[in-house]
Amino acid sequence: MSETEKRRAIVDGALELERLGLNQGSAGNLSTRDGDAILLTPSGVPARELAPEMIACMALADASGGYTGPLPPSSEWRFHLDVYRARPDVGAVVHMHSTYATTLATLRREIPAVHYMIAAFGGPTVPCVGYASYGTAELSQLVVAGLRDRDGVLLANHGAIVTGPDMRKALWRAVELEALARVYYLGALAGAPIVLPDDEIWRTVERFKKYGPRER
Ligand code: 13P
Ligand code: ZN
Repeated sequence: MSETEKRRAIVDGALELERLGLNQGSAGNLSTRDGDAILLTPSGVPARELAPEMIACMALADASGGYTGPLPPSSEWRFHLDVYRARPDVGAVVHMHSTYATTLATLRREIPAVHYMIAAFGGPTVPCVGYASYGTAELSQLVVAGLRDRDGVLLANHGAIVTGPDMRKALWRAVELEALARVYYLGALAGAPIVLPDDEIWRTVERFKKYGPRER
């Protein structure tokens, strides 16, 4: 994908998250890797007002917050940069304040394996990392630790982050995480959902590596 296509995919992704009710106003932010830099939504701009040329560009090697573009990058640029640095396999990062994931995050509750789709996040839980103020290096450290062996985390009293090799897969995980959070929340409200054994989830993690249409 060219840089222009990646900028377009970020804007389309932000619009899609809003359309699905997973973000609202200027909540959340999206980025993609582009060589040795990242492309990241600007801070405080609602999805409807975004245009591809507004997307900020930041060098992966620069930890000072330097950017190119007409608007300052997301206040969460630290965790976006740090996740790409820590995880060479990650090509896109999506942050959201979706209702059910955030509700569980206010309870500081990890999501257990109440549905096999938890395997889409790389293991038998979606952890909830501790609280730190938005935009801080402290929050970034918690996020990087939480995403070390997962592709999704809840952020205490804040929201959630998902990752993927590209924007398409990260958006897919955003939708699946909110669905999983909703099912767990409703199940917990209705009773005591049964948690699947870890070995079943690890097998499913392996099977997911071959799930879906294959490129020939
Ligand atoms: P930005 O508009 O700066 O990206 O902030 C939104 C947000 O969700 C902060 O956590
Ligand atoms: Zn946020």
